[in-house]
Amino acid sequence: MGKFVYFFGGGKAEGSSALRPLLGGKGCELAEMTNLGIRIPPGFTITTEAWAEYLRHDRRVPPGLMEEVASHLGRLEELLGLGFGDPAKPLLVSVRSGARVSMPGMMETILNLGLNDRTVEGLARRTGNPRFAWDCYRRFLTMFGDVVLEIPRKAFDEALSAAREKAGVGTDAELDADALKALVATYEGIYEGHGRRFPQEPKEQLTGAIGAVFGSWYSRKAEEYRRIHGIPHDWGTAVTVQAMVFGNLGETSGTGVAFTRDPSTGERRFFGEFLPNAQGEDVVAGIRTPQPISALQERMPKVYEELVGIYKTLERHYRDMLDLEFTIQEGTLYLLQSRVGKRTAAAAVRIAVEMVAEGLIDRDEALVRVDANDVNRLLASVFDRQAKGRAIDEGRLIARGLAAAPGAAVGHAVFTPEDAEAWARRGEKVILVRSETSPEDVAGMYAAQGILTSRGGLTSHAAVVGRGMGKTCVVGCGDITVDEEALEFRRGSLRVRQGDVIALDGETGEVILGPVATKPSEIVQVLLEKSIAPDDSAIFRYFHTIMRWADEVRTLGVRANADTPADAATGVAFGAEGIGLTRTEHMFFKPEERIAIVREMIMAEDHPARLKALERLLPMQREDFIGILRVMNGRPVTIRLLDPPLHEFLPKEKEVGKELAAERAKRRRNRERIAELEKTLDKLRALQEANPMLGHRGCRLGATYPEIYEMQVRAIFEAAATLVREGMRVEPEVMIPLVGTQGEMRLMREAAVRTAEAALAEAGVQVPYTVGTMIEVPRAALIADQIAREAEFFSFGTNDLTQLTYGYSRDDAGKFLPQYLEKALLPEDPFRVLDQEGVGELVRIGIERGRKTRPDLKVGICGEHGGEPSSVEFCHRVGMSYVSCSPFMIPIARLAAAQARIKERRGA
Ligand code: PEP
Ligand code: MG
Repeated sequence: MGKFVYFFGGGKAEGSSALRPLLGGKGCELAEMTNLGIRIPPGFTITTEAWAEYLRHDRRVPPGLMEEVASHLGRLEELLGLGFGDPAKPLLVSVRSGARVSMPGMMETILNLGLNDRTVEGLARRTGNPRFAWDCYRRFLTMFGDVVLEIPRKAFDEALSAAREKAGVGTDAELDADALKALVATYEGIYEGHGRRFPQEPKEQLTGAIGAVFGSWYSRKAEEYRRIHGIPHDWGTAVTVQAMVFGNLGETSGTGVAFTRDPSTGERRFFGEFLPNAQGEDVVAGIRTPQPISALQERMPKVYEELVGIYKTLERHYRDMLDLEFTIQEGTLYLLQSRVGKRTAAAAVRIAVEMVAEGLIDRDEALVRVDANDVNRLLASVFDRQAKGRAIDEGRLIARGLAAAPGAAVGHAVFTPEDAEAWARRGEKVILVRSETSPEDVAGMYAAQGILTSRGGLTSHAAVVGRGMGKTCVVGCGDITVDEEALEFRRGSLRVRQGDVIALDGETGEVILGPVATKPSEIVQVLLEKSIAPDDSAIFRYFHTIMRWADEVRTLGVRANADTPADAATGVAFGAEGIGLTRTEHMFFKPEERIAIVREMIMAEDHPARLKALERLLPMQREDFIGILRVMNGRPVTIRLLDPPLHEFLPKEKEVGKELAAERAKRRRNRERIAELEKTLDKLRALQEANPMLGHRGCRLGATYPEIYEMQVRAIFEAAATLVREGMRVEPEVMIPLVGTQGEMRLMREAAVRTAEAALAEAGVQVPYTVGTMIEVPRAALIADQIAREAEFFSFGTNDLTQLTYGYSRDDAGKFLPQYLEKALLPEDPFRVLDQEGVGELVRIGIERGRKTRPDLKVGICGEHGGEPSSVEFCHRVGMSYVSCSPFMIPIARLAAAQARIKERRGA
């Protein structure tokens, strides 16, 4: 058996940050703080290897562990001059979980362990405060019963309410020592009533508590949290046993939570909350609403100064924004915890940029610190100021709480996490309203747009977890009374019931009844609407700096998928270096009159009739391309020829059938219309396919109706010629979809080149262009060396490639994918996150074989994965030239590409 227990205390600690997987986040931070000379209550950490042993022993505390624990308890007793179970000077400890990454509130904690019928008297004598001692004991009995012996917590809470009622008081704090002593006797009865025995022996208590904390790794809420945050289930948890300090020993005691910078805006200021005469759990659970940290400065200026010194030391040491928990016991400050603090997207970007300016971190570090998905959050909408002003004028502002996490959330009020999930599954937007949240609520919080609580401060569970999830969050809204049973909240005589729409402003804490229009984020207003000058937006400046640094580092190109000049312009504003995919079919639907011509073309009885329809489409398509090429101003533009099966352009068979029946039923029938509808129906039936996604689409259309592709290619080059004559540079890239054989590609390329050359010769201009292909059929990846003989570039269409590799229909996978994810049959939705093992292997093979034939082959990706960070990293690793994604995802792709490059440079 290896070493299972690491000690910290007396100014020295075994272990450091390097042992994070072994000691968990909490264990490492405590070791680091001890070594930095910061005062923390001493203790020891039991490793995750001990947790693994616990698993191997059928979830029992493994042999030998308690002997090692006992020897460390001895060290602790010696250091503090106290005795575990000694009635004269009892040592009390806390027992806490600590995973490798922070999972706030997900696992169990037990405080005041070591108390029994004898030591409680000793504690009362030592502190001269019997009320305090009995209060600790009843808290301990509740936690131990609940966590270790699985007695429903409700039983203890009911007895506590009864005790309050009996004493005629409103709060627990008003219960006197005798009342608490009587409550302890009642609690012992509750244990018996549930067939459980409370162990008086502290060592037995400790064994039980360690097992229960180990076991809490597998609680439902912890498993759910890991699933949402992608934390491996086999990491396990360490357990930290630490001497108790008390924040509830009177007016010179207290407890608090602080952040070294503002977690909401990122501003460099010490930010936190403090509760005098209270235990830490009161703050975190949001049971009492705390005071701002400045209250501590007024009450105990010396302690405040010491805390400021500590936070500066810690921030310098960790070079990151930290979240601290502290307790003051009779004027002495103890740090209980320090960890990297959760923050909003805006704060993440600002902190990263400012820490570079302060010399704490370098640019690479700043770039890897910002979560690429956070960048997307920065682009999310905010409330339209005027619409909100109107709502307030109409008297719809119903309450104001603490602004805990920014954003503009509008949705139906729901009052239980289960309802939040159920409504969200139906596609509804919801706001989860609770008096306070607990870890059981996490899945519901995740499903909601925003979270509103009536209790708790800026560091309550709702605030911390909501902020981490990027949800708009208003907490501690004492103006409202939440009635979770009746599914409503009240403000005076106003009742807001389940399903009523409310709006939350996460910047101001306002709660508004009814919907409020939202408007684009500040960054969008600067970049797209140009309604705010860049210099007038601080958020924009930080964002812009990060993006600029990302562009300096990355080697992977970033393009936009854009079908219209407006989309192309958005792409350019967000930093696109070209267009990686223009889906020409979208141009056939809009505007309305076009679809009629497209239908005419499809319905054409013979070749000349089809050519006539195509001739009418040509100038329209040419205008589309002129618009896009003009916006792109010389940047490369990949235009894909028609891809979808033709039936997609015709009306639905059911609708045609209905109209036909109605027409036939009329007394005065329109014979012409009937004939037309019958013809459409016949055509629809002729085009019907059992598997249209595997059917007559992509280049198969080009092979069977060459005149369609010919019209499109002509439109591209006539557009290019027009712009070249205006003096503009253009770089069109003609892309053939769904190629699976070299012959297909040869046929398509030869036809495209013929048409392009003819159009250019007629116009008398020269235009540099290439003809390439999408790789979206597995066969094309496997014979990429042959395909590359014909194709001048590749673009991986990973939407179809995923569909065809897994054999999951893109249109039907929604029926089973959610269950597959739930049952862990798939780690992620492969249509969102690229499956690197399978689909990725085909991509890798495709690139390698393609470049065997054509070493300088330009390779991109234009499936949805091009804007997903882990997939972008993969694209960088396999040597792609660029990723292409929807315009709003471009900033994510730019940052993810930079992060991939930095990771590669660091050899990670
Ligand atoms: C793809 O298949 O990945 C692709 C980009 O094409 P589409 O989504 O239009 O089929
Ligand atoms: Mg495709």
